[in-house]
Amino acid sequence: MSERDDVLADLLAHGRFLGGLSSLGVRPPEAPGLPATVAAPAPDRADDSAAALAAVREEMGDCRRCRLASGRRTIVFGQGNPRAEIMFVGEAPGADEDEQGLAFVGRAGQLLTDIIEKGMRLPRSEVFIANVIKCRPPQNRNPEPDEILACQPFLDAQIRAIRPRVLVGLGKFGAQWLLRTAEPISRLRGRLGEREGIPVMPTYHPAYLLRNPAGKKDVWEDMKAVLRLLGRRVPGEAD
Ligand code: URA
Repeated sequence: MSERDDVLADLLAHGRFLGGLSSLGVRPPEAPGLPATVAAPAPDRADDSAAALAAVREEMGDCRRCRLASGRRTIVFGQGNPRAEIMFVGEAPGADEDEQGLAFVGRAGQLLTDIIEKGMRLPRSEVFIANVIKCRPPQNRNPEPDEILACQPFLDAQIRAIRPRVLVGLGKFGAQWLLRTAEPISRLRGRLGEREGIPVMPTYHPAYLLRNPAGKKDVWEDMKAVLRLLGRRVPGEAD
């Protein structure tokens, strides 16, 4: 089966969006068995990523699977490198994202860009950025559990299409969804977990950092750990 078929089969398997209910179960985030660094994907797999992602977007169509469809302007699928080694997962689009159809383009997005480009010294276009839910909740309220479940197959399929080497969960929703846990972000932050064999680094959401700049040093520690995991140079540290 090609990777594209794989993704479509997965979407169909999740078609009623009820299989995901089990993901609300609690699982400890620590994964002591994870290696210190993670291997790069095989090149043939990577070549399929863009087509697999496009298939996921096609499957979403003009999605009306939950109530958020009625209030959104645009579906914010997420954007970046289909072969990204690092994939960031945030919460939900805000007003700017809904307007532009792109993830993390408002104030929090600018800070995320700074973390990636000024901190990690990577072009933002090298990573992939998506959200747990793809449509803006009214007045930026928190996503509801049924909305998260309705969107879940698509984020799962995006992750399978990209097969990043590391996932970064931004804030409560990104981190809890990736780790299938209800633990607060204050406890999760900085503790490496895993989803489907991919290491997950939970960290604070950039919107939280806008209100609490003191948290930036913790996020920087987490991003350094991500770079080390990938065997990449850590700015400010000797080679
Ligand atoms: N906050 C998020 O979680 N995601 C976005 O895309 C923008 C702001």
